Amino acid sequence: MKDGLGRNINYLRISVTDRCNLRCRYCMPEEGVEKRDHGEILTLEEIFDVVKACTELGIDKIRLTGGEPLVREGLIGLIEKITSLRGIKDVALTTNGVLLKKYAHDLREAGLKRINISLDTMNGTKYEYMTRGGDIKHVLEGIDEALRMGLVPLKINTVLSKDFNEDEIKDFVRLTLDKRIDVRFIELMPLGQTADFASEHYLSNTAVLEKFKGLEPVEAGDKSSPARYYRLPGALGRVGLINPISNRFCSSCNRIRLTADGKLKPCLHSDKEIDIKGVLRDSRQNDKYNALWKAVLKTIQSKPEHHTLDDLCSKPVERDMYRIGG
Ligand code: SAM
Ligand code: SF4
Repeated sequence: MKDGLGRNINYLRISVTDRCNLRCRYCMPEEGVEKRDHGEILTLEEIFDVVKACTELGIDKIRLTGGEPLVREGLIGLIEKITSLRGIKDVALTTNGVLLKKYAHDLREAGLKRINISLDTMNGTKYEYMTRGGDIKHVLEGIDEALRMGLVPLKINTVLSKDFNEDEIKDFVRLTLDKRIDVRFIELMPLGQTADFASEHYLSNTAVLEKFKGLEPVEAGDKSSPARYYRLPGALGRVGLINPISNRFCSSCNRIRLTADGKLKPCLHSDKEIDIKGVLRDSRQNDKYNALWKAVLKTIQSKPEHHTLDDLCSKPVERDMYRIGG
C-alpha cells in the first residue's frame, strides 16, 4: 500500500509487551515499567487480528519487539501463526538476548528466520552498568545458540554512547570477520523520559568510519533498510550504520508501528497515534475487519514526510522507546 508520498508501506513493527527484564539507561527509567491492568495490553489474538488486516493491505514484513518480546507468554505461538499467514514474507525479532538460549530452538521451529540482538558492550561490568543489572553471560550464550540454530545472518544492534563504548567499536567490527554476524551501530535518539541520556551521550556514527578506514561500502540488498552497509575485506558479516539523526532515512521509510497498548503509530518520532484497541473491542462493530482496515489505512496515510528530530534540541516524543517498540 502506497502512502500519500508514494512510499510503499509493507512493514509492521509490533511491540508485544512494554515489560522488560533489563533497564537500559537510554530506554527505560530506573524504576522500570508502570504497572498496567492486563486489559490495557492487547491480547495475542488481538495482535494477530491486526496483522491479518495489515497483510490484506500489503504488509508482508513483520518485526516483533518490545519491551522484551521474549518475556511475553505465548510469543512462540503468535510467531507460528504469523509465519503461516499467506502474504507474509518475512518475520523477525528484536531481543536483548537474555532469554535466547532458552528460546532459540522454539523460535526456529516456529518459523522465525532472522533475529536482531541488542548488545552495546562486550565488557560484563559495563553491560551490568548500562542495563542496570544485566548479566552479559546470558546474552553471549544466547548469541551462540542462535547461530547454532541457523538464525543467520544474525544482526547485533549496538547503540553508540559517548564515554561508554566508543573504545569498543573495533571489537564489534571484528566480530563480522569470521562469523555470519552483521553489526549495526545505531545513533542514540532522545525519546521520552530518558531523552537527557541521549543528549548527553550522543555520538555520531561517523565515529565508526573514522576509526575503521578499511570499511568498504556494500549494497544494502533491501533498499528500504535504514542501515548503510560496509564490509571489511574478506569478512563474512557486514557493518551497518543507522543514523536517524545525522542522516535521516524518512524518504525510504516503509513502516508503521503497533504498540502493546493498542495504538498504531505512523512515525517513531511523532506523538500521533491511532487507536486500534477500541476498534478491536467495540462490540457494536459488525464488520470488525473493515474497521481495522480503515484504522491501518488512516495510519499509512498519516505518515509525515519526515520526522523533525533534526538535532538533539528538538522536543522528544512523549513515549519512551520501551513503550513504542524500537
Ligand atoms: N528489548 C529488546 C532489545 O533491547 O533488543 C527490544 C526492544 S528495544 C526498545 C529495541 C532497540 O531499541 C534496541 O536495539 C535498543 O538498543 C534500541 N533503543 C532503545 N532506546 C533507544 C534510544 N534512545 N536510542 C536508540 N536506540 C534505542
Ligand atoms: Fe529493555 Fe530493550 Fe529497552 Fe534495554 S533497550 S530496557 S532491553 S526494551
